[in-house]
Amino acid sequence: MSESALREAIALHGESLFNRGYGCGSSGNISVRLDDGLLVTPTNSCMGRLDPARIAKLDAEGRHLSGDQPSKEAFLHLAVYQERPEAKSVVHLHATHSVAVSCIEGLDPSDLLPPITAYYVMRVGKLPLVPYFRPGDMALAEAVRAVAREHRAMMLANHGPVVAGKALDAAVYSAEELEETAKLFLLLRNEKVRLLTRAQLAELAEAFPS
Ligand code: ZN
Repeated sequence: MSESALREAIALHGESLFNRGYGCGSSGNISVRLDDGLLVTPTNSCMGRLDPARIAKLDAEGRHLSGDQPSKEAFLHLAVYQERPEAKSVVHLHATHSVAVSCIEGLDPSDLLPPITAYYVMRVGKLPLVPYFRPGDMALAEAVRAVAREHRAMMLANHGPVVAGKALDAAVYSAEELEETAKLFLLLRNEKVRLLTRAQLAELAEAFPS
C-alpha cells in the first residue's frame, strides 16, 4: 500500500473505531510502519475525525519529520516496532472493557484473559500485564519493550491495550477482538464458563500458527 493509501486507511479505521465506542475524546492512537519510518496519529486528535494529510510522520528513531505533532504515546509504538521486526502496525486504545480488565486485581499478570473463544486465541493469544507508569514516564517504554519481544498484544495496567499486527487491518481487528473478549470476560465473571481445553488450544496452534 502507498503512504497516502495507508493515511486514508488509518483515518477510516479511526473513524470506525471511534463511532463504535472504542475510544472517546482524544484517546487511542494508531500507527503504521513505513519503509522510511512510521505514521502515527497526532497528539490531541480525535480518532473519529482524523485528517489523513495531517497524520504525523516519524523516522525510525521517532524523530518528527512532517504532519502534526505525534501522539505523546508514540514511544509505545516505537518500542514495539523496535522489538518486533514483523510488526507493521500498532493500535493502542482506552476502550472501556479492556481498561476495566486492566484495573482488576488478582488476574494472572502473565496472561490476563482466559481462552474463551478460538478467535481470541488466534487474534490475540496471550495477554501479559505491563506495570503501571504515569503518562510520559519513559520507563514505560522499557517495560513495553521487554514484553513486546514475546507478545503481539499486552495490557498496560490501569490504562489499556497495545496490539501489534502484520498489517493495519490485522492490528485493528486484534484490538477489536481483545475489547470484545474483555467484554465477554466481564459478562461471564459470575458464570461457570467452559473454556477451550488444552487439547483444543493445541489443535488451534497447529491449524493456525501465528
Ligand atoms: Zn494510552
